[in-house]
Amino acid sequence: MLDTRMMPFSLSVTHLLERGRAIHPGSEVVSRLPDKSLHRQTYRDTYERSERLAKALTRLGIGRGDRVATLSWNHRQHLEAYLGVPAMGAVVHTLNLRLFPAEIGYIANHADDKAVIVDRTLFPLFEKFRHEVKSLRHVLCVRDDGGPLPDGALDYEVLLAEEAPTARPDGFGPPAGSPFFHPDEQAAAMVCYTSGTTGNPKGVAYTHRSTVLHALVASMRDNLGVGADDVVMPVVPMFHAAAWGLPYVAWVNGAKVVFPGPHLDPESLLDLMQAERVTFAAGVPTIWNGILAKLDAEPKRWDLSAMRTMVIGGSAAPPAMIRGFAERHGLLVTHAWGMTETNPLGTVASVKANVAERGADAVLHARSSQGLPVAFVETRHVDERGAIMPWDGKTMGELEVRGPWVARSYMGDEGPDRFTADGWFKTGDVVTIDGDGYVRITDRSKDVIKSGGEWISSVALENALMSHPSVLEAAVFAREDSKWGERPVAAIVLRPDQEVTEKELEGHLAPHFVKYWLPDSYVFVPEIPRTSTGKFLKSKLREEYGKS
Ligand code: ADP
Repeated sequence: MLDTRMMPFSLSVTHLLERGRAIHPGSEVVSRLPDKSLHRQTYRDTYERSERLAKALTRLGIGRGDRVATLSWNHRQHLEAYLGVPAMGAVVHTLNLRLFPAEIGYIANHADDKAVIVDRTLFPLFEKFRHEVKSLRHVLCVRDDGGPLPDGALDYEVLLAEEAPTARPDGFGPPAGSPFFHPDEQAAAMVCYTSGTTGNPKGVAYTHRSTVLHALVASMRDNLGVGADDVVMPVVPMFHAAAWGLPYVAWVNGAKVVFPGPHLDPESLLDLMQAERVTFAAGVPTIWNGILAKLDAEPKRWDLSAMRTMVIGGSAAPPAMIRGFAERHGLLVTHAWGMTETNPLGTVASVKANVAERGADAVLHARSSQGLPVAFVETRHVDERGAIMPWDGKTMGELEVRGPWVARSYMGDEGPDRFTADGWFKTGDVVTIDGDGYVRITDRSKDVIKSGGEWISSVALENALMSHPSVLEAAVFAREDSKWGERPVAAIVLRPDQEVTEKELEGHLAPHFVKYWLPDSYVFVPEIPRTSTGKFLKSKLREEYGKS
């Protein structure tokens, strides 16, 4: 083979850090604190603090490959761990603060976490599981609310203050004496766990390479399209699938980052978006549903003219929401699909030129699909026997994906049945794929409603129900049925001060669906039960309302 003589330069998080310091030192990182005040630091400060963190961790005995966990909201110290821990060859492990303490303990134990960085405001939660984590040697506390240092913890800021930045010439490093180096690109940078809605949570170890490639492809204009002039606000928690890679996407581009901290109610988010002139924000549909309702109620209150797009993913963004933002507030939604197992970005609902030519309805149809696979992610869908289904926009099958940032197995080789013999990952999502390549989720396989041998798409019914003006949220689930096997039932959350009858809802759906798809009944509920990452928890609905 021809020796190409190209440099074997590693695709590492370390380069992202070095680039941020050398090229975008003045870019800002803004964090909102528990008391709602704003803290500002630059990329230069962030680099220096990440290096001090790495030095402190090294002094504590943390070495290459060791797991350093975080139990934190979105803020600058969390970013410092995202950057500094991988750049010293250790592995950052984000713990999901919305899980039950016993689950977090299980995950921290499973990942063999040696140190943990904990927000002081989350210390009461940490206390509930810390003793279960056998491997844990050091607890670093971020005193986010300024309160006293809890017993048995080291003060994050004091540790950093005890270290000095490494002297260096201008330009790219890392210089001699720094704990940073360019690790092998196949070494682990980060560990994330699935939330374990079925069975135990499973760990996915992202490599430096997968993290960097993901950030680069996510940055493409038809994907997230982030540049140095953007102001990026990850509302999606940093413990949920690496905040969809946004900290790294921002950093590789030199974009300003705005972290909302613990204040995730619509009003607080809108205030922050306005004040910091946010151009790009990302979160799950629940967050955006709340924001849309607030904007509808007070349309003139906030100036969001800087906003370029809001990315919605994690569960399906209803077309009515996408249309509502566009038509009533001039705001563009970018719908995206991903999983913890895919680092996480898999598809983005960008609009191809040939689709744009077909007019507004075709554009909305494309924008409300889960989208096109991003470059280097490959998609196919298969039936129960593994046969590959046609890209006709009609035939349903389980989505399988492969690519450079898709897991090839879980940590500890758990869940081997999710990986096919020919090298694809089985997503558990039931989809159609159309001739243009757009993927459309009809269900998660465990939520599919099988009625008389046919599959009914709960997502399609939910989207239609959520386009009714009185309906805030709708979740459609299966009820056992002696004749048909299963029948659909809809759980409905009404908008404040609204009423609607079952008959009206049926009339609203009837023109769009064949008769047997229509829900047999409706239950009106104050809220839909959710998972720790904001998805409808249909198993709970089935338990409560799904028995025949
Ligand atoms: P977990 O599976 O641990 O709850 P993930 O965030 O990894 O957490 O969940 C991935 C799943 O979320 C996908 O398999 C899919 O079912 C769902 N999902 C993600 N994005 C979308 C989307 N845009 N539309 C519909 N479902 C989505």
